[in-house]
Amino acid sequence: MASGAGETEGDVSDAVSVLRRVFGYDAFRGEQQSIIEHVITGGDAVVLMPTGGGKSLCYQIPALVRPGVGVVVSPLIALMQDQVDALRALGVRAGFLNSTQDLEERRLVEAEFLSGELDLLYLAPERLRVEQTLNLLDRGKISLFAIDEAHCVAQWGHDFRPDYLALSMLRERWPEVPRMALTATATEATHQEITSRLGMENARHFVASFDRPNIQYRIAGKSDPKKQLLELLRTEHAGDAGIVYCLSRASVEKTAEFLVQNGVPALPYHAGLDARMRAEHQARFLREDGVVVVATIAFGMGIDKPDVRFVAHLDLPKSVEGYYQETGRAGRDGQPSTAWLAYGLQDVVQQRKMIDGSDGDDAHRRRLSAHLDAMLALCETVECRRVRLLAYFGQESSACGNCDTCLTPPQTWDGTVPSQKLLSTVVRLQRERKQKFGAGQIIDILMGRKTAKVIQFDHDQLSVFGIGEDLREAEWRGVIRQLLAQRLLAVEGDYGTLVLTEASGEVLRGQREVPMRREPEKAVKAKAAKAAKGRRAAPVDLPEEAVPVFEELRAWRGRTAKEQGVPAYVIFHDATLREVATARPSSVGELGSVNGVGENKLAKYGEQILAVLSEQAVPAAEQVQQVTQVAAPTAGRQPGPGQGQESVPEEEWDWGGEPPVEEE
Ligand code: ADP
Ligand code: ZN
Repeated sequence: MASGAGETEGDVSDAVSVLRRVFGYDAFRGEQQSIIEHVITGGDAVVLMPTGGGKSLCYQIPALVRPGVGVVVSPLIALMQDQVDALRALGVRAGFLNSTQDLEERRLVEAEFLSGELDLLYLAPERLRVEQTLNLLDRGKISLFAIDEAHCVAQWGHDFRPDYLALSMLRERWPEVPRMALTATATEATHQEITSRLGMENARHFVASFDRPNIQYRIAGKSDPKKQLLELLRTEHAGDAGIVYCLSRASVEKTAEFLVQNGVPALPYHAGLDARMRAEHQARFLREDGVVVVATIAFGMGIDKPDVRFVAHLDLPKSVEGYYQETGRAGRDGQPSTAWLAYGLQDVVQQRKMIDGSDGDDAHRRRLSAHLDAMLALCETVECRRVRLLAYFGQESSACGNCDTCLTPPQTWDGTVPSQKLLSTVVRLQRERKQKFGAGQIIDILMGRKTAKVIQFDHDQLSVFGIGEDLREAEWRGVIRQLLAQRLLAVEGDYGTLVLTEASGEVLRGQREVPMRREPEKAVKAKAAKAAKGRRAAPVDLPEEAVPVFEELRAWRGRTAKEQGVPAYVIFHDATLREVATARPSSVGELGSVNGVGENKLAKYGEQILAVLSEQAVPAAEQVQQVTQVAAPTAGRQPGPGQGQESVPEEEWDWGGEPPVEEE
């Protein structure tokens, strides 16, 4: 029982000393301290914090301070080993129980748990449905329950896991043990579901700012997405680790292949690959520097690699929540990073079709539609992307200066007349000819093109033929896309034919104006690096003379990580090595004051690091030159591909191929 008067319950003042001694950090961030103090004194907590905000410390430190073992419930079986390795590297006694272990391994961890030799125990949620596990937990002393990725309990959300529903029993079974629910997903709806389904009504709620100032959000017009991606990688992210999201398995494969052919170390990841290959690709992404994973959304939850420099979406995500969570995997270390999305007409058509064809009742389809509408509004906005994103999570903010619309403001124009022309064409075809066509044919008619298909159907005889010669094809595509996004036009059937909606009439009758977004002539580019500066997450600029030292330290870290079979960041983060390279400590004592160097790592690696530093006393001049280029891929940001063009090849329009859904 946790009430025990006189029994040491763990002291709040211990928290700071654990932070310094074990983790090597000087100070708590944001609300970490209040959360930790609240839990140490036995309180329940619901913690909403963006990815990279520092959630782990919020349960790790109370688990170290309070007597007993902290039980962490996490759906991320594949990552438990790494999480535990990272803790063990800090000298924390951590273990896990999941289905990847054999009986003997499990017995060992169980014995450690029972004899009080663990500080933290990670469990998959399905374990807690097994009576055996519950009995085991009954026989040990538990300091707290931390329910990680708590949004998995929410059916409204996108990561729902039925096993999470059963976690409400923790309160009944262990009423005296403090419980924490933690997530990086923060819409009001999800927050409420977490609270009610986990029975956390009496918990204290900590909602951090969801801003990720170091991430630059950019949404570009889609023309040739693979090429656009390559351009982005070459000009801004050469040698960087990153994630590229595609909707279908086939496009994952094709994109990865394309990148490899162009010299980018890229690996595919999707649910159709066998488990061994998936594990291998994930491990390489985590362990090697500069690997790009091309994946469906099956990849990424819980990946806590701190130095992912970019997240690119080649297809439109299904919801803002999903998009924010996926892009949030960039830049956990606070260094400048890019979230880049290519978006075009066929994305809208494709998603609307998928929703129409989805299983489930009308309510389900309405929910999917609401998610998509919010995502489309974000894509079509002429305001700051970050303001829109944060508003979605209920947070007010002002223009950020570090997104594409802030850096290169798009203009609005009055699209009412072109919309009327386009809608009348659809009407004419339907009324006069009883025909329906896709975007390609409609644009040909508007632009007065006598293509074979136009002649075949006598469409050059229509009164609307050629009335849209004042706009370019790309502009017409933009008009259709925005009409679809605003639900003034709809798509139907397998061929994506265009049809009117109830609201179309208002536009045709001149009762409604249609403001549209005009893409800026030039996309965001060189301003990028500059813009990120001055914000909280300014990059740690390495002085020139520190660059070869940093590279040597990274090489040492790479060797050490390989020997131990752990990811490099488990040894030290980039930020820590940068600080070491700049400060060049000359004693173990000085090294210990660097952020991220705790007691355990100091004892283990202190001498080795000092040796690397002393070998690097006088760097050769040309070495400096050479390495600068490799180490500073963001230094020479160059213009990216133009944003305004949207010319989707016709054959992509009438795609009839594989279903673009990812079933996990
Ligand atoms: P989350 O789980 O919220 O995504 P993490 O717990 O992985 O975030 O923390 C993100 C990064 O920030 C990690 O590299 C972690 O070591 C670091 N970090 C967390 N808290 C602090 C702190 N108080 N001072 C310095 N670094 C911190
Ligand atoms: Zn902005």
